[in-house]
Amino acid sequence: MARLVMKFGGTSVADIDRIRNVARHVKREVDAGFEVAVVVSAMSGKTNELVAWTRAAAPMHDAREYDTVVASGEQVTSGLLAICLQEIGVNARSWQGWQIPILTDGAHGAARIMEIDGSRLVERMAQGQVAVIAGFQGLAPDNRIATLGRGGSDTSAVAIAAAIGAVRCDIYTDVDGVYTTDPRIVPKARRLDRVSHEEMLEMASLGAKVLQVRSVELAMVHGVRTFVRSSFDDPADPRLADASNPPGTLICDEDEIVEKQVVTGIAYSKDEAQISLREVADKPGVAAAVFVPLAEANINVDMIVQNVSEDGTTTDMTFTVPTADFARAMKVLEAARESIGYVSIQGSGDLVKVSVIGIGMRSHAGVAASAFKALAGKGINIRAIPPSEIKISILIDSAYTELAVRTLHSLYGLDAA
Ligand code: ADP
Ligand code: ASP
Ligand code: MG
Repeated sequence: MARLVMKFGGTSVADIDRIRNVARHVKREVDAGFEVAVVVSAMSGKTNELVAWTRAAAPMHDAREYDTVVASGEQVTSGLLAICLQEIGVNARSWQGWQIPILTDGAHGAARIMEIDGSRLVERMAQGQVAVIAGFQGLAPDNRIATLGRGGSDTSAVAIAAAIGAVRCDIYTDVDGVYTTDPRIVPKARRLDRVSHEEMLEMASLGAKVLQVRSVELAMVHGVRTFVRSSFDDPADPRLADASNPPGTLICDEDEIVEKQVVTGIAYSKDEAQISLREVADKPGVAAAVFVPLAEANINVDMIVQNVSEDGTTTDMTFTVPTADFARAMKVLEAARESIGYVSIQGSGDLVKVSVIGIGMRSHAGVAASAFKALAGKGINIRAIPPSEIKISILIDSAYTELAVRTLHSLYGLDAA
């Protein structure tokens, strides 16, 4: 019999009624003949609350104890869903990460899955038992619980689908698929029927939080068919029973997409800060002098742009860091002023990165030029633009986020009729 993974996010399991609704979706697939493994998130808002508690207890807390606390939200929902399934006559059992086990590396708080032994799950599923798995967690080499970073249940689901050889991994969430941009800020956003792995990876990395980045990477590497769909559909809706064409978005290989668009979607990510180093001596090793101290301070650098001066002796370097790390990054760079050798440093917080994504850009010139023209026409000042093959990212002041996303969405013909 075919195996299926069904993942339900926080809003889908936000209270007991919604968990009951999830149980009915699961029963529908069991009745359709699938052996089902379910992956659940914590109730929406729960993980934020748990994170806040660890910060209140101590701002600089032990990452292993952070994991002990924040992994608990998924333990609750896995047990509750198993109970609700049993209530409607479905044989079900909950599993925590350590019971499977899902083995991770030792990076507590942002661990990566290293290995999943799916044999016990497969055995129980073959006996007709639905496995209800706590997402977001695994077992680190120190034999302690590890969590996978925020939004990590998507990754748990795709990794389990790969480990048990599932025919598909259905990601149930509060929207009925992947849209051309975040439907919460652009009401005219359209649902996409299919998105290539590569585009989805860019969209997720650039701020579309509908799927965790790592889950898309795993789906791409292991060839897991991932399908994003809504948990708010009525489980009895006959359209859902038609397995050949349920409503949602399939993340698939590029060659499965017949009509390739130049631009597939627009993403945005807040909390970017910009730092510019002026008149840096243009000599070998200078990039290392700038970026090594930042890396050592655990600060992620993004969007690096360099402008060499006309005489070629100095360059201006501009890059972004997360807003939360802005003050620290400025301090690190001021301390390294002598070894880098720059004349002045400037910084500004509260920026937004807006990105235009599409595989068709590879073969289409002029996509970037039209974006700049459209934004300039709305009086939006562009601060930095690093190049890439299938995306353009533009840094702007955060006050213009919605205007910029809507302008670009219309410009590339993405608005729903
Ligand atoms: P879950 O709790 O189910 O994991 P998330 O909140 O993590 O759900 O992700 C779903 C949300 O992602 C949606 O409510 C939507 O606002 C947001 N989102 C951002 N960009 C997109 C997009 N391009 N398509 C669909 N949803 C998007
Ligand atoms: N509950 C975790 C979070 O909020 C994991 C997830 O929902 O995917 O980040
Ligand atoms: Mg999520």
